[in-house]
Amino acid sequence: MKYDVIVVGAGLGGLIAGAKLAKEGKSVLLVEQHDRPGGCATTFNRKGFTMEVGLHEMDGLHASDMKWRIFRDLGVDTKVQFLRVPEFYQFVNERYDVVISHDPSDVCQKLIALFPEEVPGIEAYFYQLMNIRKIMKQPITGPEKSAGEFLDSIISNEDLKLILLGNLGYFHDDPYTMSLTYYSMAQSSYYAGGGGNYIKGGSQVLSDYLAGYINDHGGKVLLNHLVTSILTEDSKVTGIRYRKTAGLQDTAVAQCDLLIANASVPQVARLLPDEKGKILEENIGGLQPGASLLTVYLGFNQSLKEMGNPCYSTFVFDRSVKSLSDVSINNRCDYDTRSFAFVDYSHVDSELAPPGKGVGAVCCIDYAKDWEALDRESYKRKKEEVAKTFISRLGKLIPGFQQAVEYYEVGTALTVKRYTLNPGGAVYGFAHTPDQSGTTVESPLANLHFASAWTKTGGGYSGAIMSGYLCAMGVLREGRG
Ligand SMILES: Cc1cc2nc3c(=O)[nH]c(=O)nc-3n(C[C@H](O)[C@H](O)[C@H](O)COP(=O)(O)OP(=O)(O)OC[C@H]3O[C@@H](n4cnc5c(N)ncnc54)[C@H](O)[C@@H]3O)c2cc1C
Repeated sequence: MKYDVIVVGAGLGGLIAGAKLAKEGKSVLLVEQHDRPGGCATTFNRKGFTMEVGLHEMDGLHASDMKWRIFRDLGVDTKVQFLRVPEFYQFVNERYDVVISHDPSDVCQKLIALFPEEVPGIEAYFYQLMNIRKIMKQPITGPEKSAGEFLDSIISNEDLKLILLGNLGYFHDDPYTMSLTYYSMAQSSYYAGGGGNYIKGGSQVLSDYLAGYINDHGGKVLLNHLVTSILTEDSKVTGIRYRKTAGLQDTAVAQCDLLIANASVPQVARLLPDEKGKILEENIGGLQPGASLLTVYLGFNQSLKEMGNPCYSTFVFDRSVKSLSDVSINNRCDYDTRSFAFVDYSHVDSELAPPGKGVGAVCCIDYAKDWEALDRESYKRKKEEVAKTFISRLGKLIPGFQQAVEYYEVGTALTVKRYTLNPGGAVYGFAHTPDQSGTTVESPLANLHFASAWTKTGGGYSGAIMSGYLCAMGVLREGRG
């Protein structure tokens, strides 16, 4: 069978690209190795709880946000409901417990009251965020700063810097290697858009809708199938070889005029024939993947909100993190001191759990190499220890927490790797360092395109969604000659 377009991977980038191209009349085959579409944007069910895999909050969705235009184009706006989350994040460390809202002037006022000696720095920080597009148009003078270096240059108080970078884990693992431009763009869209959003019913609702949209527009979404190689002739992709994910037999071939890889760019280099794969590896040129995340999925026998947990999303910083330079070290520490986020979904979506119960997730930066050497039993044991560690740490912050836990399960960097095939289980594509951020890896073949967190738009829901749409628009433009 020959298709106009084959998409490898049903992460958000692949789903959006496939949906747009199907809408515009292209015959689309989307092949996904997992049993459900979405990649990181999925949910799974355990004992009546719907566990969210990859969404704490999605920025934007205001009238001038490109994502909203994309959603309108694909009918998402009328079929998927978005719920505003009540605050950006709560920051908690030994000395401070501060709720950061999505309103920059409210945050400014609050921080000025807490740190009156830092007024110029607080104003400079928000100026940078709220004017980033203007700043980016100015002539470049010298190498780009990291977010950490920028904060050091405008603010003295280390707690204030930690509060402002409290949600750094949404993008990267180290303030001193985080591109200031990328950080400013990404962070400001949570402020400038007037809020963060959760998807009613969980991310799977969006992913299922997009997969359904492809099917409804004459395309085909093939789940449980792994693409094992990309076929080429001369300097063009001609198709794919694929098989059922479980088992090694039943290899099949599908042909296409054009291929869109939602699978990570490093994986595509391995799927291509040797010579083309080498060219792509050279084009990748040593770009390093970003960090992964560990999640403890939690089901509660009651609603934590009703138990008095005040916030949707809380970033808990360990006492050992006294300055920005401790953040990266801490992200590699044992789990009993590693800083983490806790999301209490019952604040926005009571339907994720049976009536009267709740769902939450602990999330921290994680690295596949910390798990890879473990045998099956040790891996299981370590996951159990990690779950108990975080549950006990949260018990110290939220009275009655431990007694409220009815179900828990841990997903590590290796779990993310297994379900996305991303190197190291990276969730945001290539690391957003000043030298890597915004990079476009050149495709070695004219009809091979990328649509994922591994492109210049970067990771997160916004990055992947925009990448998918921009890719589809590029393909359509090319088609018009
Ligand atoms: C725990 C967690 C929390 C997160 N929180 C947030 C958040 O709050 N806000 C936010 O904006 N972002 C968040 N993210 C990040 C965000 O989910 C991702 O950056 C984004 O969804 C990545 O989309 P993608 O299109 O690059 O594809 P991915 O999600 O990486 O999916 C790639 C897909 O391709 C498939 N695939 C790969 N290779 C093959 C092959 N050979 N054959 C067939 N199929 C293949 C995989 O199975 C997978 O489905 C979070 C992620 C995680 C894991």
